Amino acid sequence: MPTMRSALLGLCVLLASAVHAAAPPADLILHNGRIVTVDERFSIAQAIAIRGERVVSVGRNADVEKLAGPSTRRVDLRGRTVIPGLIDNHAHFMRAVEYWPEEVRWDGVTSRKQALEMIAARAKRAKPGEWILVLGGWSLDQFTDSQAGFTREELDAIAPDNPVLLQLIYFRVYANTRGLAALGVDAGTKDPAGGRIERDAAGQATGVMNGGGAVRVALGKLGEVAHTRMVGNARVMMRDLNALGITTYQDMGGRGFTPRYFEPMRELDAKREMTVRIFYNLWQEPETPAQVDAALANIKALKPFQGNDWFDNTGYGETLYFPLHDSTLVKETKPSVEAMAQWRRVAQAVADKRMHLNVHAQLRGSIESFLAAIEDIDKTTPVRAFRWTFSHVDQLEAQDLDRLRRLGMAIQLHSRPTIQGVLFHNVYGDKAYEMPPLKLVQDSAIPWGLGSDATAVTPSNPFYTLWWAVTGKMLGGRQVLKQTITREEALIAHTRSNAYFVFREGDLGSLQPGKYADLLVLDRDYLAVPADEIKDIKPLMTMVGGKVVYEATSK
Ligand SMILES: [Zn+2]
Repeated sequence: MPTMRSALLGLCVLLASAVHAAAPPADLILHNGRIVTVDERFSIAQAIAIRGERVVSVGRNADVEKLAGPSTRRVDLRGRTVIPGLIDNHAHFMRAVEYWPEEVRWDGVTSRKQALEMIAARAKRAKPGEWILVLGGWSLDQFTDSQAGFTREELDAIAPDNPVLLQLIYFRVYANTRGLAALGVDAGTKDPAGGRIERDAAGQATGVMNGGGAVRVALGKLGEVAHTRMVGNARVMMRDLNALGITTYQDMGGRGFTPRYFEPMRELDAKREMTVRIFYNLWQEPETPAQVDAALANIKALKPFQGNDWFDNTGYGETLYFPLHDSTLVKETKPSVEAMAQWRRVAQAVADKRMHLNVHAQLRGSIESFLAAIEDIDKTTPVRAFRWTFSHVDQLEAQDLDRLRRLGMAIQLHSRPTIQGVLFHNVYGDKAYEMPPLKLVQDSAIPWGLGSDATAVTPSNPFYTLWWAVTGKMLGGRQVLKQTITREEALIAHTRSNAYFVFREGDLGSLQPGKYADLLVLDRDYLAVPADEIKDIKPLMTMVGGKVVYEATSK
């Protein structure tokens, strides 16, 4: 007599196959691959099945094949590696849309000679008088042939008919003669606030302008791009990000960011033409108590999570009171009581709205002052549920971890040393080998993730970030970090962990049934290539929401 138990078992099997049979077939099956799922067990599968926008199954070829139907498309991966789409938890791409297609990007260019050749080639294609721009994302230290600054003479020689502007992070710009003229800089021009126009013995501007103030003024003179062109630029930018392997990122606004930068994304979202998921925090940069009053009104009006899984507001940040927006080119910072009082007003307003907050803090002084203020806010308004997050924290120390844990805060660490490594060492000496402390944070069990902070202070390529996190090297090859992590840890921090910051951990970050089919087919195996090759990895295909948004051949 079959026992009750075997009868029940039979019934379950029957039911399962009925459900299986009932489930509509997969639209697409990728098989014969190395599917790095980045699930909790970091399991690796052979095949993945996708229906509509989402993953329905991952596993062995034979099991996944069971979901095939007559109309199911199949892609034989021929052993290729697949990883979840990379999520950048902190970048400034919406602002970068403005000049994106026109810009020359020196991201990852390690030859100064080649960098100049790229300017010359761009000048050849340009109309006379058209700006030739390289807006950040590089440093002189990434060049292995020469780290010499750029002279007006050499820029004039390669682009005599076009104004040239080279932005070096936020502390210097280089311009040629046409560029100086276009910026309205001549012998009589006064130095901008917080900047200096370098002059030769005859008082002529040399083309070099130093200081954040000079960078700000120069960028401000480039002029606004019309909305329709911004929409076109935004399409190009998202395609380029897809080609780098980015499927989702969190936007932090950035200096000079205004609400007009949302419009192109709103339009493309309404047209269902997004190819990158963009979640943003609202950036405002009040510099006076009166400007804080205005900022508070906007915080009051802010309604996060009214969007969708392509474009949505997640909260506020990364800067609260601009005078306390610290820089990594000074040895230390000590926020004043007056400035902290303004900072506190903004943080309190965000807490009162029970909203997510991302806080830019790099140096000890900022970290300690902001932590103390948040602990005080937390006494009346616990912030744990709002996932408040520290960004950058290059000088985070072990003593901060317990305080962050008690507050339920999270941490975002960013790959600025890929170009700023030598700069960090020049300012902080050997301490820079611990900046930021990736290993300390990885071992702390505090929620954390990796990102770039692109496009002015870091290049945009997420594989540079993964390479730096694993090797501790900066572009050009110099060792700048000792707190490295494993490639598994780095990949988790650039995928699943970052879904937390955009409040989509149930939908994004790993290749598991029910989650969006956001994935990359790679040109080589991220888990097996020599560590130094990680920076050279390129997607062959990028998929977002089950749709192919980039294919290497179609570029
Ligand atoms: Zn920042």
